[in-house]
Amino acid sequence: MVVRVAVNGYGTIGKRVADAVAKQPDMKVVGVAKTRPSFEARVAIQRGYPLFVAAGGKVEEFGAAGLPVAGTVPEMLEVADVVVDAAPDKVGRENALLYEAAKVRAVFQGGEKADIAETSFTAGANYSAAKGKRSVRVVSCNTTGIARAVAVLDRHYGVESWDATIVRRAADPGESKKGPINGILPTFKIPSHHGPDVRTIFPHLNVQTIAVVVPTTLMHVHVNRVRLARPAQDAPELAQAFRSARRFHVFEEWEHVDGTPQVMEFARDRGAARPDMMENVLWAHGIRVDGREAHFFQAIHQESIVVPENIDAIRAMFDLAPDAEASMAITDRTLGISRS
Ligand code: NAD
Repeated sequence: MVVRVAVNGYGTIGKRVADAVAKQPDMKVVGVAKTRPSFEARVAIQRGYPLFVAAGGKVEEFGAAGLPVAGTVPEMLEVADVVVDAAPDKVGRENALLYEAAKVRAVFQGGEKADIAETSFTAGANYSAAKGKRSVRVVSCNTTGIARAVAVLDRHYGVESWDATIVRRAADPGESKKGPINGILPTFKIPSHHGPDVRTIFPHLNVQTIAVVVPTTLMHVHVNRVRLARPAQDAPELAQAFRSARRFHVFEEWEHVDGTPQVMEFARDRGAARPDMMENVLWAHGIRVDGREAHFFQAIHQESIVVPENIDAIRAMFDLAPDAEASMAITDRTLGISRS
């Protein structure tokens, strides 16, 4: 079976998800939708994706720009088995009405509240929860990063509690209207929304998060303090647990990766079609273990970490793979994600 996938909202996440869907042997892009003509709309057409006009957009504006459109979103939904909603935060809630009317399954993103879908999702943590579902929400970039790491440490040692300080990027590289460009801004809501969001995947986890926004576009960084249920031997053992898991990249000290600029330079150097880092990034020398107490840093590429998760969500919803490992293996191979 080849699942026909539509992408509604073709920005940072939507365009990456469309490109990832196009690489899957069991999925096909049947359309992408944008609200107005732009360079991204032109690239979508060049890539061969049928372009549709999203809610609030005007067909004639696309015509005036010389961009051929295949119709509007309701027409896109007619030829789709599932729609990936990648519209801005909270807009998915309005779009959900269109999907329900068209009786099309939907994958939402982390900018929506959890109750928009039947389950929240991270492939390495709760793949089977999405099996056969009509609506799934892939959690946000930071929540995905924490959920992936919890899944690994829980498997190896059990997790008693998790504290994370999230150092957040101010904007994505393609944006020019967000900030700050000067200063470090504490998020005064304590705990930050990420902790409760992780509990949509791990309902019983004792997790606390606190966040601060800094003037960078290059990734988020998490400072994690974890209380394990069973002691770890040492930091190299913990590093190996992450290294052997899917979607983790562990840098060694001799690689001289001082921080996120070098991580993204590595992403550019390794030669993928897009210089993305879909893995959780750890530093082997940025891990400290003292029995049941573990500290480690991880960096999260906000623009791309959720992309493989969207692919696995679709595979789970349509039962295209027997389990998480089988689905993630296909996704990782096609997207060029290798174990470190
Ligand atoms: P974005 O602003 O880059 O892209 C959104 C796109 O949707 C834009 O092209 C916009 O024109 C279009 N759009 C606006 N109204 C629409 C509508 N009614 N219907 C369809 N499309 C519409 O946003 P993004 O960063 O890609 O975020 C999309 C979702 O992914 C949000 O829920 C966000 O929280 C989540 N997310 C974002 C990031 C990130 O760091 N950028 C990371 C993980 C998850």
